[in-house]
Amino acid sequence: MKALKCRECGKEFLPTKIYACEHCFAPLEVIYDMDSIRLYRGFFKNRPRTLWRYHELLPIKDKTKIVDLGAGYTPLHNCDRLARKLGIRKLYIKDDTINPTNSFKDRPATVAVSKALEFGFKNIGCVSTGNLAAATAAHAAKAGMPCYVFIPFDIEMNKVLQAAIYGAKIIAVKGTYDEANRLAAEAIDEYGLAIVNVNIRPYYVEGSKTLIFEICEQLGWRAPDNIIVPMGSGALLCSIWRGLKQFMEIGLINGLETRIIGAQPEGCSPIVKAFKSNLNDIFPIEKPRTIAKSLAIGDPGDGIYALKIIRESNGVAESASDEEILEGIKLLAENEGIFTEPAGGVTMAVLKKLIESGEISRDEEVVCCITGSGFKSSETILEAIPKPIEINPLLKELKNLFEVNDHE
Ligand SMILES: [Zn+2]
Repeated sequence: MKALKCRECGKEFLPTKIYACEHCFAPLEVIYDMDSIRLYRGFFKNRPRTLWRYHELLPIKDKTKIVDLGAGYTPLHNCDRLARKLGIRKLYIKDDTINPTNSFKDRPATVAVSKALEFGFKNIGCVSTGNLAAATAAHAAKAGMPCYVFIPFDIEMNKVLQAAIYGAKIIAVKGTYDEANRLAAEAIDEYGLAIVNVNIRPYYVEGSKTLIFEICEQLGWRAPDNIIVPMGSGALLCSIWRGLKQFMEIGLINGLETRIIGAQPEGCSPIVKAFKSNLNDIFPIEKPRTIAKSLAIGDPGDGIYALKIIRESNGVAESASDEEILEGIKLLAENEGIFTEPAGGVTMAVLKKLIESGEISRDEEVVCCITGSGFKSSETILEAIPKPIEINPLLKELKNLFEVNDHE
């Protein structure tokens, strides 16, 4: 790690505890000394099967401070059955439900908690729509640090439960995610907190790009043709683009023609709206209304950057209704045995829509990001499943229940 660089004015700073540009207040990002990093494909054969296998491209100096629960190196499933059903040549699912706390947020959390420890912070916390709460709380528990989680009061019970069981104090803010975010930011200086996605943010976001590092490695060291990414703040999509560029620069992949496709729920789709209206500005949504709570961020912090990347990569942005999201969840579960949270339902619904509209042509390859487990959102998904068939314990009552093949 060389420096922190302002995303707007380009001014560089020493990689310390600062998190916004001192000149223009824009976000900062980590810059690596790419010339000094020598990485070859063969290096990775014997490395640990976690995201720390890419430690040269992660912002931790003191390796003894790494808080590792085994996040990353999740499966990339080859989904032929679903590909046939949808009518495309190749479909892969990157399954980040297989992470220590069952969402991709374990990636930024392991990096951010490690960095907070390296900085010598005594208290850690986060602002969360749910998944980050559990990820931060679990890594804080492993590090032995007290953890404070700011959430909007209306998030799913299972997500609150998961964060609370790791010992975090849950602060439910009577307001939206954006209001919880503002409050947490104000608490940083007042109480000396390391809020992973506020004042540790430049380091925190670095964890997410490991998702695309793994995809490239799992595809045999190449970038995918298309990747569909769910968007809340837009940060994951930006991280994926950044990861691809870094792998190119270092020479681990040879070409980069990936189309980056952004997916949002219709009830909170400010980035998609800007894309479709050919605007460069994002108009925040005051009251998000969607079952995809993890994407209910009305004022997406990285929205304008995500929009730029989608256009630069020749990609597209699309949204899905609550009904389509539930259908998407079922589509993936019934055909591939993977149970996603509503955010992944958004990804699947958008995939289906774009194939039907011809935006993704039938001879293409697509990778879909499934960012969290459906168990976290069981209250919402319960509505969409059929009730169990109740019978008496009598053989004759099974009649007509089974699909019988007449030709046998
Ligand atoms: Zn600046």
